[in-house]
Amino acid sequence: MNCERAKPELLGFHFGMAEAEARGALEAHLLGCPACLREYLELKRAVELPEEIEAPSELSRARLRRAVAAELRRGAAPWTWWERPLAVGLAAASVWLAVGTVRFVSTQPGRAPHAMERAP
Ligand SMILES: [Zn+2]
Repeated sequence: MNCERAKPELLGFHFGMAEAEARGALEAHLLGCPACLREYLELKRAVELPEEIEAPSELSRARLRRAVAAELRRGAAPWTWWERPLAVGLAAASVWLAVGTVRFVSTQPGRAPHAMERAP
């Protein structure tokens, strides 16, 4: 396997669509070729992080709204005046914390995937 043959296979490899034989050859090539490994990591990052994460995604917000609405509908015990804003605040904070964690882990130099990129 050489670079010309390896590069078009990277996307299929990422999604587990490469044939077993091609997969083995590609893995062997990636282990010995920093250029292709870097390209693979960049592709992987582009697939997994399609855009800069600045705010919770629309999907996360929709899930949060549904969760809060379900919680409000349940109404087994009436909420005191301070419980509802606290619950909504905690839910929002946990979403922001999750987003912040993902962002921190994925954008700091010296952390994955940056650390992996520098590996020979
Ligand atoms: Zn290569």
